[in-house]
Amino acid sequence: MAQQDYDVVVIGAGPAGYVAAIRCAQLGLKTACIDRWRDDAGKERLGGTCLNVGCIPSKALLESSELYEHTRKHLNTHGVHVGDVELDLAGMMARKDRLIGNLTQGIQGLFKANKVTWLKGQGQLQGERKVCFTSHDGKEEILEPEHIILAPGSHSVELPCAPYDGKYIVDSTGALAFDQVPKRLGVIGGGVIGLELGSVWRRLGSEVVVLEAQDRFLSFCDDQVSQEALKIFGKQGLDIRLSARVTDTQVDEDKGTVTVMYEDEQGRHEERFDRLVVCVGRRPATDGLVSGPVELLIDERGAIHVDDHCKTTLPNVYAVGDAVRGPMLAHKGSEEGVMVAERIAGMGTALNYETIPSVIYTLPEIAWVGKTEQELKSKGIPYAVGVFPFAASGRARAMEDTTGFVKLLAHADTDRLLGAHVISSRASELIAECVIALEFGASSEDLGRTVFAHPTLSEAVHEAALATLGHPLHIPPGKKKG
Ligand code: FAD
Ligand code: NAD
Repeated sequence: MAQQDYDVVVIGAGPAGYVAAIRCAQLGLKTACIDRWRDDAGKERLGGTCLNVGCIPSKALLESSELYEHTRKHLNTHGVHVGDVELDLAGMMARKDRLIGNLTQGIQGLFKANKVTWLKGQGQLQGERKVCFTSHDGKEEILEPEHIILAPGSHSVELPCAPYDGKYIVDSTGALAFDQVPKRLGVIGGGVIGLELGSVWRRLGSEVVVLEAQDRFLSFCDDQVSQEALKIFGKQGLDIRLSARVTDTQVDEDKGTVTVMYEDEQGRHEERFDRLVVCVGRRPATDGLVSGPVELLIDERGAIHVDDHCKTTLPNVYAVGDAVRGPMLAHKGSEEGVMVAERIAGMGTALNYETIPSVIYTLPEIAWVGKTEQELKSKGIPYAVGVFPFAASGRARAMEDTTGFVKLLAHADTDRLLGAHVISSRASELIAECVIALEFGASSEDLGRTVFAHPTLSEAVHEAALATLGHPLHIPPGKKKG
């Protein structure tokens, strides 16, 4: 088949692009997916940020570092005594790299099985139905598919006062590959990446200071959850400093340190670190994506303008994932990819953006879906709230891990669930049942009348639903209406 015969060309093989490509192929569309990613050894890789330097490697290190800390500090509570526990950082990193290799090869296998053509190199949109593909060896080819899906993803924002140097001042990718545990680690940005990677290195022995510009911690979370999280992370030893505006940084090669100058309400401060991670957000990777007189609307942040169905301002051109509005989450991008593929194939698929879950993979994990209490208050929506603490859960006690709670918010008049917030170990798994409940338009009574296995952490969701109704079984009753 000549390459010009493609029905669909996808630019980008991250979770948004590769899923879109697979779904297109499943629906009988001849599909090619262009990606330029190469690893440090120059080997082409599918999977984009998520598999290579994002979700997967960070979760690999979170898991390994949690095991290390747990073995050192918490096993003895269970009557399990171990001798000296040794950290093999190179071994930990090698496991992470093996995992990435296996998973990215897995996508290669899926492309093969679904007959998606993988084009290794750069893609550029040059017209409504025109993509220029430049292979890694510089050969150019013009593709003229019926439909184009743009999924170029995002990259880390760089701060002018803390430019990346690849050694002392790094982005998340650098912080996933330190070859030594930094004695003192500075983190600029107390968001999702700052907390996840800060936790990894704290568990492995770093003294971690997080400098966050906002005066509110985790401002996008429910207030009750963020306050609880701030307390817990502080006790764990993460030194989180709010309202901290970084003004300058200075690397001292001789001493092997980086000094950070910052200001807060108390005045000016200086802190010296062995390494500094900057994680102050990501922005769409749309530079150079388009060339020529193409009327593709891209906003000042670099995000491609799309409608609710990910259609761009050009007919037959769609955009999905981190490069468009909405949360920068792998599962959000993947579901947009599925939606677009199915719409190209003539189906009427839509995506419910109201029920996309978010998770921060710290310990405890923080997970949520739907509205926060402060959002309901500010919109004047009457609500009932039910909170169940894990301290009252038999399973959590058996696990010796009673931190956190489940909080449910339901409409005060209709009882329809509006939001769910979980802070606990395994919150990332517990949130799934709440997502299903919200997606199906369930009420808190629906959850309260559903039978949950005993003893499980999930029972806390059941009890929070009963608490929303005013009659929890394993904590004293009490109903709060907003
Ligand atoms: P990307 O994954 O960025 O992929 C884009 C791909 O397009 C890349 O492979 C790139 O090479 C390619 N590309 C771009 N432009 C071109 C071009 N012109 N030609 C050819 N190829 C091109 N999200 C979660 O949901 N859960 C998590 O636990 C999580 N953890 C994260 C941890 C870290 C450290 C980071 C950095 C991110 C994390 N994320 C997580 C976010 C997640 O990685 C992104 O939301 C997701 O990868 C976005 O998918 P995407 O397909 O839109 O883009
Ligand atoms: P983020 O938006 O989560 O957090 C950035 C933080 O940096 C914010 O709290 C912000 O107030 C702060 N900040 C901004 N400028 C600052 C400055 N000059 N000085 C100090 N603080 C400053 O962004 P991130 O942590 O970089 O993550 C990027 C994206 O990747 C997020 O959108 C996130 O959704 C995604 N991600 C998701 C996961 C997950 O799902 N578990 C994990 C990692 C990353």
